[in-house]
Amino acid sequence: TDPAVIRNFCIIAHIDHGKSTLADRMLQSTGVVQARDMRAQYLDRMDIERERGITIKSQAVRMPWEVDGVSYALNMIDTPGHVDFTYEVSRSLAACEGAILLVDAAQGIEAQTLANLYLAMENELTIIPVLNKIDLPAAQPEKYAAELANLIGVEPEDVLKVSGKTGQGVEELLDEIVKQLPAPQGVRDAPARAMIFDSVYDTYRGVVTYVRVVDGELKPRERIQMMSTHAQHELLEIGVSAPEPQPTKGLSVGEVGYLITGVKDVRQSRVGDTVTGNLNPAQESLGGYADPQPMVFAGLYPIDGSDYPVLRDALDKLKLNDAALSYEPETSAALGFGFRVGFLGLLHLEIVRERLEREFKLDLISTAPNVEYDVVTEDKSHLHVKNPSEFPSGKILEVHEPMVAATIIAPAEFIGAIMELNQQRRGIMGGMDYLSEERVEMRYRLPLAEIVYDYFDQLKSKTRGYASLNWQADGEQVADLVKVDILLQGEQVDAFSAITHKDKAYAYGTMMATKLRELIPRQQFEVPIQAAIGSRIIARENIRAIRKDVLAKCYGGDISRKRKLLEKQKEGKKRMKMVGRVEVPQEAFIAALSSD
Ligand code: GDP
Ligand code: MG
Repeated sequence: TDPAVIRNFCIIAHIDHGKSTLADRMLQSTGVVQARDMRAQYLDRMDIERERGITIKSQAVRMPWEVDGVSYALNMIDTPGHVDFTYEVSRSLAACEGAILLVDAAQGIEAQTLANLYLAMENELTIIPVLNKIDLPAAQPEKYAAELANLIGVEPEDVLKVSGKTGQGVEELLDEIVKQLPAPQGVRDAPARAMIFDSVYDTYRGVVTYVRVVDGELKPRERIQMMSTHAQHELLEIGVSAPEPQPTKGLSVGEVGYLITGVKDVRQSRVGDTVTGNLNPAQESLGGYADPQPMVFAGLYPIDGSDYPVLRDALDKLKLNDAALSYEPETSAALGFGFRVGFLGLLHLEIVRERLEREFKLDLISTAPNVEYDVVTEDKSHLHVKNPSEFPSGKILEVHEPMVAATIIAPAEFIGAIMELNQQRRGIMGGMDYLSEERVEMRYRLPLAEIVYDYFDQLKSKTRGYASLNWQADGEQVADLVKVDILLQGEQVDAFSAITHKDKAYAYGTMMATKLRELIPRQQFEVPIQAAIGSRIIARENIRAIRKDVLAKCYGGDISRKRKLLEKQKEGKKRMKMVGRVEVPQEAFIAALSSD
């Protein structure tokens, strides 16, 4: 295809502003998906995505569109909408010349609208501002057109107005994509360079890699090279998604499509990497490649210990399709055999956990999520602590914790509540801007550890659901952090250790001790529950002793009833874990680790 008739674009939006619905409508308007084949959110393929209404993996689709008698090829690249997947979003954007900035006409600009806009600007994309859902009775198109125009520096009349639901304005939008976006530029005779913006594992075909060709051409049967690893593969198939895969005789400058090499693991075909030909390889890769960095860690343990091999196989399978998932085996005295798993963020954690439970029928306990600390010990060596129980007990020079830059957008009436929450979470305000008279954008620098637990829920409840949040990694800081251990009768329970700020250690210790006193049944002896920093006890509760004589209740008489009781007691014991001499029911661990 002649690059002059290609237009590569993506739709960027805050979650729920209607990106998937608009994409569906475009597929229909351009005739690539017939109305009768149309199911809602055609591009969101995974079940979990469909149910949660979020897009996790981006997909590309080619659509024909005619303007003034000329046939164009529009490549629409669907980007993930959630903050956990910023890197994937940025690579999808880098594959485009333009972006449709979609804003709900009843909501206005939200935190992820801004985050995505900034990413698009960093990639020098042409932005087409569009208000969606103008069919809604609550829509305020004039007001939000002004807000949007003000944000990106255009006239309010330049903001297009559409409804992905009714289709109103969608054809005009397709025309504007052709008119406003530049055609791709690239050197046809140069060595091939294509950027990978997505990589998906398919049970039947192996890894399907989505690429944008920047220079040169890729042809089927040729040998290719991944520029970050120099790994070589044969191109078994190359083609375009329209939206079903359609093999072609090659992909050249400006084209977007897929390739299949027979590799079985997305790690061998990484998002952001550059593909080149093996015979005439490019000298320089396209840049922008980065390994995905896990930010949040949690221990995952099967509730039934015999499920451990199932969990291991399940993680191995998920990894094929998720280059950002990392894990290593871990043992816990309290929870048995499991894994320490690294995630991009909390949504990523939830998705992985849900897939493990749903697709592999596993019942799991997960420990409270934590971040990775860089602990400098007295001999100046650095320890990277991903599991609180590994925090050294000896002398420590300093502890570095990861930080985030957060943007919150909310109605101005909630400024006070938001400031209070952020203060509690050790946040420092960086600035505040009014987007309009009633809405503000607030910027904070916060420890990541303070937002992985319960922060978003708190923000939502303090703002009656109106606040939106976006964050990105922002270096680290030295902080006064300590490890709090929980001891049962003097024995440390590793799964309950936590790293907290010094000022919050006492609150954590009392909270856990009180919780456990209620959850652990009385034993035949007194059981002290203690919270400690090193050898210093900071909180203490007691479980009083009972004389456990179940048979006494049976008045000596009924033998079969006695036997039943004894059996019942034995069964109950199976689900007990021993911590020293203390019997702790499995449920107590689960309940103590759950967040409410
Ligand atoms: P995404 O998260 O940006 O992909 O948003 P979706 O496309 O999943 O849409 C979120 C919700 O808004 C869904 O319930 C849609 O049915 C609804 N929606 C999307 N576009 C429109 C529209 O133009 N008008 C109305 N009334 N509802 C819409
Ligand atoms: Mg969607």
